Amino acid sequence: MTLKIPDYIKKIAPYVAGKPIAEVEREYGIKNSIKLASNENPLGPSPKAIEALKAAIAGVHRYPDEPSYDLLNRLAEHLKVQPEQIIVGNGSDEILGLLSRALLQPGDEVIVPWPSFLMYAIVSQSAGARQITVPLKDMGIDLQGILTKVTPKTRMVFICNPNNPTGSVVNKDDFTRFLDALPSDILVIMDEAYTEFVRDGQGANGLDYLMHDTPVVTMRTFSKAYGLAGMRVGYGVMPVEIAEILNRVRMPFNVNSLAHAAALAALDDRAFLRQTIDLVHESLDMLYKELDQRNIRYYPTQANFFLIDVGRDSKEVFEAMLRQGVIVRNMSGYGFPTCIRVNVGLPGENRKLLVALDHVLG
Ligand code: PMP
Repeated sequence: MTLKIPDYIKKIAPYVAGKPIAEVEREYGIKNSIKLASNENPLGPSPKAIEALKAAIAGVHRYPDEPSYDLLNRLAEHLKVQPEQIIVGNGSDEILGLLSRALLQPGDEVIVPWPSFLMYAIVSQSAGARQITVPLKDMGIDLQGILTKVTPKTRMVFICNPNNPTGSVVNKDDFTRFLDALPSDILVIMDEAYTEFVRDGQGANGLDYLMHDTPVVTMRTFSKAYGLAGMRVGYGVMPVEIAEILNRVRMPFNVNSLAHAAALAALDDRAFLRQTIDLVHESLDMLYKELDQRNIRYYPTQANFFLIDVGRDSKEVFEAMLRQGVIVRNMSGYGFPTCIRVNVGLPGENRKLLVALDHVLG
């Protein structure tokens, strides 16, 4: 092919998603498997969202609400911010893409903790920016380490809070000091996809820093606690000046009408959200106890997933777990060659996970 593809694009390693259940079952000739690999909500979508979806289907011959008037206003009310400070997207992944497309250019530097969510690297590389990685410290994001990597070329810093895959949160006092020390021409992206599950009262909340001199974009999603991963709705909360810039590169109708209806209904279903959070916390406490009894090492989490150190090659364990009908995530590509990442499931699924672990680890 004679097309001139930029070198920085050729170097991108495509994102590998958790395998869908149907594909795994076909590949391994198994049935009734469970997926604990993509940090989804095991309860399904909120019943209110399902009802709203059914009602919205009759209107799909019309273009969606643009610019998401109802959802922006409802979110603004919920978060106590202005609608002009919010950008909604086709999953929070889209917001990441918009930020990099609008704000980065070749030669810029972005600072990315490692291991963390792989999309930060992909969106930065797509814009030709150079990725500077800062290793985690004690399984958490090393804010001091990030400060030492700042140069005049630094444009963005990604903070995953809680961090995927370790489940750690940054402490609010540490984060305040970090932000105070960071030059104000650098954008901090606080990715809070799992914020609803945080139990640590000392964890930082990106929304508290909306007025800080150093700009902060806080990203949230309906994919996890709200049970709408398949609808693809996420949002970023940011200073109005940044939202105005993102609106220049955002495609119109980027959130479809079914997604609008589902997100609005899910936001109002507080009982479902509570049920989800309670299930995650109870399941985690149960799994910690069971793993302790088996002397299996794990890393406690603030999210709905956690790392289990299986003490042997994680790819082999991942494969063996698949044969037991339990889909988990192999962490060797994330620098944890002996860890698997699992999200909590329904009580029966959590038990199936333990049975499979017992079988595989002997
Ligand atoms: N951030 C993190 C840390 C995630 O783990 C995920 C989902 N895997 C996302 C963002 C993307 O979520 P969404 O479905 O809203 O695009």
